[in-house]
Amino acid sequence: MSARIVYSARYRVDIGPHVFPTRKYDLVYDALGRPPAVDPPPATWEDLSLVHTTEYLEKLRTGTMSEEDVAQLELPWSPEMVEGFRVMVGGTIQAALFACGLSADSTTQRPQSQESSAAPEGQEFSADSAISAFNVGCHIGGGLHHAFPNHGEGFCPFNDVAVAVRVLQHRGVGRIAIVDLDVHHGNGTAFIFGGAPPPPQTRSGRSPRAYQEQNVTHANVFTFSMHQQHNYPMWKPRGSLDVGLPDGARDATFLGELERALPKVAAHRPQCVFYLAGADPYEDDQLGGLRLTKQGLRRRDRLVIDTFRIAGVPIVVTLAGGYARRVEDTVAIHVATIEEAMGAGAASGPPTAPPRADRGRQASSGEG
Ligand SMILES: [Zn+2]
Repeated sequence: MSARIVYSARYRVDIGPHVFPTRKYDLVYDALGRPPAVDPPPATWEDLSLVHTTEYLEKLRTGTMSEEDVAQLELPWSPEMVEGFRVMVGGTIQAALFACGLSADSTTQRPQSQESSAAPEGQEFSADSAISAFNVGCHIGGGLHHAFPNHGEGFCPFNDVAVAVRVLQHRGVGRIAIVDLDVHHGNGTAFIFGGAPPPPQTRSGRSPRAYQEQNVTHANVFTFSMHQQHNYPMWKPRGSLDVGLPDGARDATFLGELERALPKVAAHRPQCVFYLAGADPYEDDQLGGLRLTKQGLRRRDRLVIDTFRIAGVPIVVTLAGGYARRVEDTVAIHVATIEEAMGAGAASGPPTAPPRADRGRQASSGEG
């Protein structure tokens, strides 16, 4: 078992004065001591098309977004912005492939024919091999859960986790779970895996069996979002499990609800889990109102990671949101998440080992 960090300096995009500090990725990487990391290639446009519509991708690629598109995305368009986020999607793909023990040499590969979504010969994913090689892919980036197939929203041009899920599915990883603990509901992700109709190719020209398989694959993605109910987004498409918390929920309520919810996610028996570890439930966040402490957020991370580490399920960690008044707080929360994840990846013995007893372990930079 092992852990790997994925990061790129290209995530730091100039978006002008903005509540979203794109420099946080650099700051997290620096605070971790600039460890060895995979510098990902950008997701290909073909990868992105596994989730996003041709029309929307064309607008991003050519800079032909309308004023309304840009207002909804809440990011100024530039070639650098598109490229930076394309690399970020590539980062989540890399972290996911690593977590599942799959090679990264053919991330753009997808079946030539839409007739089958099965993995190419010789590339089937084995749940057994994943369990014997529990891996954690730690992405210092990602978690762009507000992006829909046909538009971007809330600082999210692409839905990196959804694209990575589709890439894994094409490589034969069937059951996948998404644990989204950003303060905001994962509306784009819930829509993509819950309410989205099958792509046009599946509605015509496919055999009933293939159509059926597509639906089975679709149903195999379990989306769990726990968030502040009275916050953006207004429209919250239903996911597999949605827990909307009241304003000012604080640590005890949040952690209690999380403890109740995680067994329901684990019951899905995922072969890979994506964790969106948003820093914005923090008490001094400008866009969040759940009022969690740094200690509470670290306990949150540990609960999630321990649950799936003990079950031997590969974990993909993404950072998602974080808008603390002091960027140092956002960075410290993200650093703590990565430290927890790397610690799990470095530990020995699961799935047979008991939960770690070193509850007093403190990181130098994670809590202050
Ligand atoms: Zn958020």
